[in-house]
Amino acid sequence: MMYNPKSLKASEFISHEEILETLAYAEAHKNDLPLIDSIIEKAKLCKGLTHREASVLLVCEDDERLARIYQLAEDMKKQFYGNRIVMFAPLYLSNYCVNGCTYCPYHAKNKHIVRKKLTQEEVAREVIALQDMGHKRLAIEAGEDPINNPIEYILDCIKTIYSIQHKNGAIRRVNVNIAATTVENYRKLKDAGIGTYILFQETYHKDSYETLHPTGPKHNYAYHTEAMDRAMEGGIDDVGIGVLFGLELYKYEFAGLLMHAEHLEAVHGVGPHTISVPRIKHADDIDPNAFDNSISDEIFARLCALIRLAVPYTGMIISTRESQQVREKVLRLGVSQLSGGSRTSVGGYEEAERPTDTEQFDVSDQRTLDEVVHWLMDLGYIPSFCTACYREGRTGDRFMSLCKSGQIQNCCHPNALMTLKEYLMDYASEETRAIGEALIEAELANIPHENVRAICADHLDKIAQGIRDFRF
Ligand code: SAM
Repeated sequence: MMYNPKSLKASEFISHEEILETLAYAEAHKNDLPLIDSIIEKAKLCKGLTHREASVLLVCEDDERLARIYQLAEDMKKQFYGNRIVMFAPLYLSNYCVNGCTYCPYHAKNKHIVRKKLTQEEVAREVIALQDMGHKRLAIEAGEDPINNPIEYILDCIKTIYSIQHKNGAIRRVNVNIAATTVENYRKLKDAGIGTYILFQETYHKDSYETLHPTGPKHNYAYHTEAMDRAMEGGIDDVGIGVLFGLELYKYEFAGLLMHAEHLEAVHGVGPHTISVPRIKHADDIDPNAFDNSISDEIFARLCALIRLAVPYTGMIISTRESQQVREKVLRLGVSQLSGGSRTSVGGYEEAERPTDTEQFDVSDQRTLDEVVHWLMDLGYIPSFCTACYREGRTGDRFMSLCKSGQIQNCCHPNALMTLKEYLMDYASEETRAIGEALIEAELANIPHENVRAICADHLDKIAQGIRDFRF
């Protein structure tokens, strides 16, 4: 099928033939140093790379060029995201699912996993537990089940989540990771005030997709792949894409992922808000070794660095599927959002001990949010609990213009400091608070605009006095 990024047909904007040609082109040019140099030069302009260009860099074998690629990813990360890392947590609402995804323990044929769906009272208790940790931003997760988890249930949960105010706590942004749905349902999610709509493609390879999703509505490749277009038609302008690495060849997935981003940009004038990079993990009856396309930590890091170069304005998300060590590496190379203190079971947060009976995948990084915040600050990052953009209506292309205008340091930076201050006052351990206070003091000086700096300093004082929720 002819590649056409402007088409609304999955088979044309993710053209299998174009991906195969891209992989052949990349392989033929992997030692073409003048070409590689010119692509690296183009990447330095921070205007992104095409899927073909980025695919050449993915297979480049020259160590010196690879070192330059990593350095550039680090530089671009600093330029666009500074040292801020946005924090979030997943909230599992229900593991009822009618699909047959072969890599997910919630698949319908799994008869021994405990099935659970939170009542609104239970949602409220989970939210209180998450607020008490210090979270302000959640990603809600649910299996696909029109009877048990209809859109009305998801909407009720969103309403409950936004309504809970416990002590100084509040969930200020709810991102949603639920199955592909209709324009009408996306419009309902938009009206419910969601942040980003997240849907992982799992794999862009149609034949593999159909084998990996043998039964249930998710089996329909085109319906799934075209979901972001429906979401945007329904008014959601922040969408998050991703593939589940390990299912198919990573080179294929990488080209597909970038083609998807090119498509969204070509049709809707705005690329994906975020890209997630999950890798398959062990879970209940799922053995990751049963899938033979697993990737090494080194390739994983290279993928993250190249996503940074190819789509500089797209945030990158890493979950607790990855270990502390891997997370540390990819944070430097481009990751901008990180989950902390996560539990991947339905109703997991209100339990004292981590429950495993309904877990979607094993969590590698099991530290508490306070430990993660402490660790990030030790590494020189500012953990940010900011949700300002979406609440100020800076979504879609308006958020992208903020990035491109270079005003991030006068906007995101003070917002990060103020929300970190709230965290330190309300939730941090004594040690974390001490490190954080010193960090805020030092970072205040890095707000370029004098007026903004003065207003931020004033807001920080007010936060210390107990007033909450300032933002630029
Ligand atoms: N049910 C929704 C759907 O159909 O898209 C999405 C929610 S699901 C809870 C979130 C994501 O977890 C999936 O899209 C998949 O990529 C990932 N996932 C599923 N099984 C996994 C496993 N064994 N290890 C790591 N990630 C997994």
